[in-house]
Amino acid sequence: FIEIKDVHKSFYQKEILKGINLSLHKGEVIVILGPSGSGKTTFLRCLNTLEKADSGQITIDNVTKDFTNNDRRNTRDLILKTAMVFQGHALFNNMSVLQNVIEGLVRVKKKDNAVATEIGKAMLARVGLSDRANYYPAQLSGGQQQRVGIARAMAMQPELLLFDEPTSALDPELVGEVLSAMKELAKEGHTMIVVTHEMQFAYEVADRVLYMEGGVVVEEGTPQAIFNAPQDERTQKFLARLS
Ligand code: ATP
Repeated sequence: FIEIKDVHKSFYQKEILKGINLSLHKGEVIVILGPSGSGKTTFLRCLNTLEKADSGQITIDNVTKDFTNNDRRNTRDLILKTAMVFQGHALFNNMSVLQNVIEGLVRVKKKDNAVATEIGKAMLARVGLSDRANYYPAQLSGGQQQRVGIARAMAMQPELLLFDEPTSALDPELVGEVLSAMKELAKEGHTMIVVTHEMQFAYEVADRVLYMEGGVVVEEGTPQAIFNAPQDERTQKFLARLS
């Protein structure tokens, strides 16, 4: 369903992703762990083409994009396969909550306003924010803003949902509501890649945990295997620092 082959990315001669390979089944939830600077964000950004990989192939559903040799085909098709929830909410402050959620549907997917509004309202209901549709982002708590970010990503009906540390900028008391919304999506069978430091979430929700360091996937396995019996010394050291 999703196949990522040998993805490389450098910034100014420095190789940040050194050949990432990963396959996902439909409905699988993957949590990526790793120290700061290991390339986790860059990897997510390459998947949704916010960054252009230098080489490698990404297949999502029926779309394959080859980044080798500057092949330009299939960029738009790949963009439409993913949606991302960012660390900060990244909402437009001058637009209402509902407008934020439907913006991509109208602008990118060219849905007409009435159809987009229906979808937008349904998505807000799913994250428990129906009554906030006409508010502005500044009138919401950080946790509510992140849930709007999730509704906005869901509205695009992506095959793959990407989460880049969605709770790390939140006050501790607001983390739970965002993780619960994510847990619901996982239960509903959405395919997700989540970069997070929330170990409990990883333990409960992930089908597979990847440990990244220095631009490579060092180790991957079930949460039980990674947390209880990590094989690689780098993973062991990282987990030991957390506990
Ligand atoms: P964190 O947990 O701190 O977000 P990360 O594992 O997500 O870390 P990345 O954000 O992917 O790591 O960054 C990996 C490296 O790439 C860092 O050294 C960063 O400075 C560098 N980097 C990322 N984006 C760019 C960019 N646009 N231009 C130059 N360097 C970049």
